[in-house]
Amino acid sequence: MTRTRGAAPASHPLPEHCDFTVFGGTGDLALRKLLPALYQCDREGRLPEDTRVLALSRAAYDDDAYRAIARTALAEHVPAEQHDLTVVERLLGRLHHLTLDVTDDHDWHALYGRLKDRRDFAGTVRVFYLAVAPVLYETICRHLGSGGVAADPSRVVLEKPIGHDLASARVVNDAVGSVFAESQIFRIDHYLGKESVQNLLVTRFANTFLEPLWNSQWIDHVQITVSETLGVGDRAAYYDASGALRDMVQNHLLQLLCLVAMEPPLEVGREDVRDEKLKVLQALRPMTPEDVDHDVVRGRYRSGYVEGRPVPAYDEEIAALEAGDGTTETFVALRAEVSNWRWAGVPFYLRTGKRLDRRLSEIVIVFKATPTDVFPHREGLTEPNKLTIRVSPDEGMQLHLTAKEPGPGGYRLRPVSLDLSYATTFANRSPDAYERLLMDVIRGIPTLFMRRDEVEAAWAWCEPILQHWAASGLPPKPYPAGTPGPSAAFTLIERDGRSWQEYL
Ligand code: NAD
Repeated sequence: MTRTRGAAPASHPLPEHCDFTVFGGTGDLALRKLLPALYQCDREGRLPEDTRVLALSRAAYDDDAYRAIARTALAEHVPAEQHDLTVVERLLGRLHHLTLDVTDDHDWHALYGRLKDRRDFAGTVRVFYLAVAPVLYETICRHLGSGGVAADPSRVVLEKPIGHDLASARVVNDAVGSVFAESQIFRIDHYLGKESVQNLLVTRFANTFLEPLWNSQWIDHVQITVSETLGVGDRAAYYDASGALRDMVQNHLLQLLCLVAMEPPLEVGREDVRDEKLKVLQALRPMTPEDVDHDVVRGRYRSGYVEGRPVPAYDEEIAALEAGDGTTETFVALRAEVSNWRWAGVPFYLRTGKRLDRRLSEIVIVFKATPTDVFPHREGLTEPNKLTIRVSPDEGMQLHLTAKEPGPGGYRLRPVSLDLSYATTFANRSPDAYERLLMDVIRGIPTLFMRRDEVEAAWAWCEPILQHWAASGLPPKPYPAGTPGPSAAFTLIERDGRSWQEYL
């Protein structure tokens, strides 16, 4: 029995009953992202009225003790102007804590009991959000299966990383897939929940003017940058075993590339978007060891100054770990190619790193120069047209054009931009990516989640890079913190006669 509230698409109505179970209820992800997202959904009346949130952790909290932690987290992570005590109390009323060490077989019965004491157990959507280390996924799924709570309409949500290479990703996917059908598995890439990223689909496929130009005839190249000023912080142990390629490129940057490069789907909301993204991943030209040497740059930050503050080197940040062989990269820049009819010959330059000079995520589509110059006696420069999609901060879009500066006599040309800022164009609040994604999980809408074949295709493409790095044993190139990365990243693009956009 289902009913629709708000703007739920008819094919995915809002369920009447929902049990939202969070494994890792005391962790950073749960307290900083999931509870605030659930709060916002509740505040805007989007949650099913009969929603319970079961937070699980190893701590011996009762409901009240956990609610006190949740109250503090909401006060800290919900903007003050949106913090409504009535809604806080309503959400806390939905919230329960269960003590459960997932590795202890005896602890599970309390959870099964709680879930099954529902009046309409069969009709209740059960979401199992695994906000724990991936090494626990197999154990958790096995118990959910044997406990009889995993059948449809149950859903399981997995966070990155899904494995650390192709083989380990398959192990994780097999373990989860032995209990849950693929249609019940929601692999989160929170970049896909961002408004500006979804707007890329709308810009491309709900307008006509770009699509005829969206190919190698008119596009010179594409740049995708995810630049962070933060260091590894308290994620050092995870990060040192991972590095920038696994942590960012394999998932977020390749997903953005897919949305730029994919063919029009038949319809958004079915499997078509994921089918088309998969085709892009399969069309990525595989890298040979020579390509890796030539087209991939990796770096690692030294000490330096970020936003005027001195910051330590990566080596100092991980010194306490007694881990690492000194080859973990905190920066990657690479040149990829999509070998299909639409994109042959168009380089995709991808770049991401920590402790860089700015915090910025953006996609820049750089169009080709005009075929001939009809303003030979002009003053000023013409620049190629560009479409910039700002993912963060200040989500929005800019279309860069050349315009005539007003005034008599001759042509003075100047680059100008049409600027769409989400904050100023749309008065309503721009929701956090997790809000959209959690509601899609509850409704069972899979479009913005990564399918198994996508995850594995992305790993398959990254694997030769990882293997060549491991075989060569060469250390990453050092760069001072607070700079745009190693100079080799500039050489990578400049040798093709191009530049990173912010350094034009
Ligand atoms: P965290 O270390 O802060 O929290 C982990 C949680 O797991 C804690 O609540 C801990 O008590 C619980 N836990 C550990 N062992 C357990 C056991 N045996 N039984 C029951 N509970 C157990 O980690 P986090 O930052 O919240 O991240 C959780 C997962 O989400 C990780 O896989 C991480 O890679 C991923 N992730 C986190 C973020 C983020 O912003 N924090 C972003 C993307 C992905």
